Order: sequence, then C-alpha cells, then structure tokens
Amino acid sequence: MIDIVGGSIAGISAGIAFEQFGFPTRIWERDNPIYSRDGHAFLVLGSALGSLQHLGIAEDLRNTSANIQRGMYFDNKGDLIKSFDLKDTFGTKRIDLVRILTSKYSGRLYYDCDLEKISFDDDFYTLEFQSGEITKASTLIGADGANSRIRKWLYPNHKLHTGGYFEIVGSCDNASIVKALDNSFQKHFSQDHINENHIAFGILPTGGDDLTWFLQIPVTVPEQVNDLYNVESRENFLRELTANWSSLIVEAIESTDTNSTYVWRSGYMDLLHTFHFHNMFLVGDACHPLLSMTSQGVNTALEDAIHLAQLFNDNDLQDVGNLFYSNRKDVIADRIEYGKHLADRFTKHPEQWVQMVHLAD
Ligand SMILES: Cc1cc2nc3c(=O)[nH]c(=O)nc-3n(C[C@H](O)[C@H](O)[C@H](O)COP(=O)(O)OP(=O)(O)OC[C@H]3O[C@@H](n4cnc5c(N)ncnc54)[C@H](O)[C@@H]3O)c2cc1C
Repeated sequence: MIDIVGGSIAGISAGIAFEQFGFPTRIWERDNPIYSRDGHAFLVLGSALGSLQHLGIAEDLRNTSANIQRGMYFDNKGDLIKSFDLKDTFGTKRIDLVRILTSKYSGRLYYDCDLEKISFDDDFYTLEFQSGEITKASTLIGADGANSRIRKWLYPNHKLHTGGYFEIVGSCDNASIVKALDNSFQKHFSQDHINENHIAFGILPTGGDDLTWFLQIPVTVPEQVNDLYNVESRENFLRELTANWSSLIVEAIESTDTNSTYVWRSGYMDLLHTFHFHNMFLVGDACHPLLSMTSQGVNTALEDAIHLAQLFNDNDLQDVGNLFYSNRKDVIADRIEYGKHLADRFTKHPEQWVQMVHLAD
C-alpha cells in the first residue's frame, strides 16, 4: 500500500498514475476539497495535455473548462500591447479539476485528515493526524502543498521565499464578460506600469459563464497587504485601484462578491537537494512551490505524479528516489528560475517585463 498525504492535484494524480500500474494507494486529505475549495481557477497550458491524456481526463476537462485560444495584453486604456495564440490551453476551475481527478481515482480518499506529525523508524513512517488517528506507512508520497508538513519534517530549515508580489483573486459568473473575452486569457497593465506603481489584472473564462480574475501587485508596503485580509478594506482597495480601468475590469470586480475573493501570496523555494527520504517522495508544490506567474504549478504537479509512478513500475524501489531527482531536477530548477525572473521583472523592472513576458511552454 502506498500512502499519499494531500488530496489535491498532485496527490490524486499520483493515486491515479500508481493505480494504472496496479499499485494500491490511499489518500489522506486535510480538508474536504469538494466543499471548501471553490472560488479560483488556473490556466492549464498546452504543455499539460500529454499528462491530462495519460491520466484519462483530457476530454472531461475540455468539457468543463473554457478553451483558451489566445493570450492578449492591454494597457489600462484598453489598447492592445501584444497578442499570441494558445493551443490546447484551458481555463479551469480548481474544483472541477479536483472533481474530475477524484472521479477517476478508485482508491480510498480520507477527508478531514490533517497530518500533524510524522516520524520514521524501522522502515516505517508513522503518521499522526489531528483527529488522533495514527497510521503506519511503508511507502509515502508527500503531496501536501506549498506548506508541506512532510517537507518541513525533512527540511526544517529550507525557506519559502515570497515573489515580492501578492494577488487578489476573484471569481464570478457574467455571460457578457465571457462573451467579450471570446476565448482569450487577458492581462491588463496599469497605465503607470513603467513607474513603481505598476499592477497587472489577469482575467480568464473558466467554463460556462464563469470567469476568474486576479490582480497582481508588487508588495511595497507589507502592512497594506495584511490590511487586505479584511473584506471591507479589500473591497475599497479594489474599487479605488481599478476605478479608471477598462469597463471590463470594473464590471468583473463589481460582479464579484468580495467575500469570495482572497489574497494569495505565491512563494517559491530553491531547489531541494533531494526529493525523497528512504521510501518517502515529495511531489507537486510540496516538493517545489512555483510562483503563480509561471502558470506551471498544475502542469508540474501532474508531471511529477506520472513520472514517479512510471519509475516505480520500471525500477527497484531503492533506485527510484535518485532517478526521480536526476530526471526532474533540471526542469524544476528552470521553472523556479523562470518564476524568479518574471517576478523580478514585474516588481523591479516593469518596462522590461511587459516586453518580455510570455507564457512558458
Ligand atoms: C486554497 C488554495 C488556493 C490556491 N490559490 C492559488 C492561486 O490563486 N494561484 C496559484 O497560482 N496557485 C494557487 N494555489 C496553488 C495551486 O493550486 C497549486 O500550485 C497546484 O494545484 C499544485 O497542486 P498540489 O497538489 O501540489 O498542491 P495543492 O493544490 O496546494 O494541494 C495540497 C493538498 O494537500 C492538503 N494538505 C495540506 N496540508 C495537509 C496536511 N497537513 N494533512 C493532509 N493534507 C494536507 C491540502 O488541503 C491540499 O488539498 C492554491 C492552492 C490552494 C490549496
């Protein structure tokens, strides 16, 4: 039995990928993602298509997501700066992706299991959950996200760095905006993007009449960000900041219930020295939180899960950890660097950022 901690994108993908090779798995998830994780979405880039097909979910995702055909960048007067084609790219609600993955997974998924403590002895990992439940695992996958307890247990001193920017993320349904977006993912830059107060507003359709938007802002005053965890402050901040922006943005914000918006501070970590400890393996954000600007979090989590399962199938267990690291480290290091580069340009050299920014493939 392989135990997986974390029942989101990386964890359930790992469950499916291992099942495909006949390995039994069970998943321990802190929350109940079906009910508690509504409200935001991602861009799933064309580079994820192979993984989605491998997991057998490409068609389901196509049916529930928006098909994104173009990326378009605008200044805040609505003038187009740049337009580029996107292939096999989806605007997907997180909850839809988790639901689809869950429907393809036939192992046991235990909800409300918050891993509190982990120890290793006699070739077994002892997992202690907040509920008081204790279980022993001989093979363990840590898929418990950017603040992974399992990673912190292994690497207590490895720090999560901030990207120097934060986001306010919101979702709503608005048929006229979705129609106006016309299958594009758009990014609008503030008029003074060449000054220090530059900001970016991204918006994408996510299936049906639904859309998600995110406002990206460099952190110049940390106290201001803390203040924005308060809903009223966030509402005022959004209104004031975007009042003179294009009508599409103003309408998107007005159509959104501010209570459902949230502040997201994306972080990254330097590459770990190894992704395993005996028979414990880290995947997804637990292994390598990536800055949101790369749009590679989901894609990389899927790749990790599929690749690890393949290695389990093709190799002796004692070789898997080193192979997993040597096969994955370069691609992950590139994405960490790419995220840092984008964040650096965004927060410190916005004029260069607007010129060079593109979606990684
Ligand atoms: C609520 C939320 C909002 C997010 N918003 C954004 C965003 O706005 N922009 C962006 O770029 N990325 C966002 N992300 C991150 C994005 O979803 C991930 O980069 C991507 O999905 C990779 O998936 P993952 O499975 O590795 O990590 P995650 O999707 O973070 O999943 C980790 C899972 O592990 C579970 N878990 C954590 N700790 C424990 C524990 N102690 N015991 C048991 N289970 C545990 C979590 O509940 C979660 O289901 C968000 C993630 C979450 C959870």
